[in-house]
Amino acid sequence: MTELIAQRIAKLRQQLPAQVRLIAISKKVSVEAMREAYAAGVRDFGESRIQEAEEKITKLQDLPDLTWHLIGHLQSNKAKKALEQFQWIHSCDRLELAQRLNRLAAELSLRPQVCLQVKILPDPSKHGWSVPQLLADLAKLEQCQALQIRGLMTILPLGLSPQESLEVFERTRELADKIRQQNWSHLEMQELSMGMSSDYSLAVQAGATMIRLGRTIFGERIT
Ligand SMILES: *Cc1c(COP(=O)(O)O)cnc(C)c1O
Repeated sequence: MTELIAQRIAKLRQQLPAQVRLIAISKKVSVEAMREAYAAGVRDFGESRIQEAEEKITKLQDLPDLTWHLIGHLQSNKAKKALEQFQWIHSCDRLELAQRLNRLAAELSLRPQVCLQVKILPDPSKHGWSVPQLLADLAKLEQCQALQIRGLMTILPLGLSPQESLEVFERTRELADKIRQQNWSHLEMQELSMGMSSDYSLAVQAGATMIRLGRTIFGERIT
């Protein structure tokens, strides 16, 4: 088992450009497996649920240099907990949540790193801004000065061909470029969190800076 996780990580590192940040998505994965990933050099872990993350953060307290990434939909009433646990929030998916995170971060003297989750294609099964809505909300997001708004995050709709997938990733990058060109002082748009086990090669091809891999590292999840 140890061998396997370490081997998978080594293989990924060979494939990936050095600047791409590999986030190990450890939802439903044991802390033992996470320790194996740590031993193989992983320092970034992503979780989708607050409660599960809380337990793991406690159990892995002896590992001093971990960065925790929230990748799942966040209910407003858990925003404070999320800020206390995660250094990165990839799944900031609506203005009201951004404003709440901003208020709480200011109160807690935190400067969380945030990605804005966007839906390039309509997808009722997922959360996130539509492109027009995001563009309309930028002026208000600019005012969320306690947040470090670092870029965009996207999740593909199910059932796209490789060509369609690549197009969605490219349109995400183009959207980030477009926002950057508007010269907001507070919306950085350098990071693109996109690509999961089934589509990360295409995401990297389109310019992903952070990929979120679960099954490729840990094997199939038992649900
Ligand atoms: C579960 C999940 C991942 C990882 O998915 P894999 O297919 O296991 O790589 C990445 N991003 C999000 C938002 C997820 O929920």
